[in-house]
This record gives sequence, structure tokens and C-alpha cells, in this order.
Amino acid sequence: MRWETHLHTKEGSACASASAAEMAKTCKEAGYDGMFVTDHFYHGNTCVDRDLPWEEWARQFSLGYYHAKEIGDRIGLRVCFGWEYSWDGNDFLTYGLSPQWLAAHPETVRVTPYEYLKLIREAGGCIVHAHPFRQEWYVKMIKLLPDLVDAVEVYNGGNHEDVYNDRALWYAESFGMKQTSGSDTHWSGVFTGGILTDCEMNSTEDYGGIIRSGGITGLIRAGKDCPF
Ligand SMILES: [Zn+2]
Ligand SMILES: [Zn+2]
Repeated sequence: MRWETHLHTKEGSACASASAAEMAKTCKEAGYDGMFVTDHFYHGNTCVDRDLPWEEWARQFSLGYYHAKEIGDRIGLRVCFGWEYSWDGNDFLTYGLSPQWLAAHPETVRVTPYEYLKLIREAGGCIVHAHPFRQEWYVKMIKLLPDLVDAVEVYNGGNHEDVYNDRALWYAESFGMKQTSGSDTHWSGVFTGGILTDCEMNSTEDYGGIIRSGGITGLIRAGKDCPF
């Protein structure tokens, strides 16, 4: 199966221009079997009003996922929930936990980033360090936490320099970490990354086990399927 692992919608991300419905349609057209919606989280570039009470914030933040899933169910594209946690420009893709779990856990935005990474994994979720070597104005410091993440995103379609992906691969290889890839698309029709799996994935809860057991059998890089 081909899965998109890193994607933004205008329902949840201030920097995205495509609706979740458009994303689901174009992702299917691009030949994917499934996609994760990973909008920018509370301390990142979310478009959901941070003054809302937590449960309402979490409900509105999850709308990109629900809207994409509605279309996905109709056209035969699996849609799973995730989000992209931001720590001063360092981004940690978070999977394996449901919108209901998020609504019940307001402490996710109160604890320190270090505590956050531990909390998510203790709750059964998993963390992928997104584009760890990207250098942009909003990245204040490159931070590496190999013991607190489950995998490294070694290809990111939003990186402006190839060397950022090359360095991420070097990082994953030198620490013996699992590897993922994602388009980081904010506009419909542009899908360049993703993962290949030889097993079924039906919900976000399945992804951590697939990563840890070696169920990712290849990566999509610059639109090309590259088996390991
Ligand atoms: Zn963005
Ligand atoms: Zn992103």
C-alpha cells in the first residue's frame, strides 16, 4: 500500500490552501491507498482559535480529518488522524491517538516538549521527527532526540534543499532509526512523498506497530516508489 504520512488542510493549518476534501480527492488520484491528516498543532501554525475551550479547540482541529474521511470513505481512500507538534520550529509528527483521546488530554499543550514526547509514547502513540535538518527562518535550533522518537522523516517534499533530506538519512542511518517519508503538502495535487507497506493499516493506532516491526517496506521520494 502507498500512504501519505504528512499533509495539511485549510481546516486546521493557517498555511494550507486546500480543503481536506480536495486533499482526499487529489491524494486518491495520485495513486495513494491512504493518507494521514497532520495539521499544525496548538503551538504551531494552526488556524484554530487558541482562546477556545480545549474540547472545542480539539473538535475544530480534528475537522480536517473528519472532512477528508467523509470523502475517503466514498472514493476508497483510507484516512487517518495525526498532527504535527511544533517546538520552536522543530516538528514532531504524532500518530496513533484518536481525536477523542486528544479532546480528553488538554495537558498535551501545557507540558514541556520533552514531557510531551514521553507522554505521547506512554499513551500508545508514536512520534516521527519531521524534516529534522530543515533550515528556515523559523527554525531556531536543530534539535535531535533519538531516544524520544520512533522514526525519522528522511524524505520531506517541503524541504527546499536536497541536503536537508540527505542529512536526515545520515541521522537515521547512524543511529539505526526507522525511516519514513512524507509530502508535507499544503496544496492539493502536489504529492511527492509517502511510505510503502506490505501490511494492512486501517487506523492511526496501527501505525506505531507497523513502524516498530519494520512494516514500512520502502519510501516514496520525489514521486517515485523506492523499495528498501
Ligand atoms: Zn505549514
Ligand atoms: Zn508539515
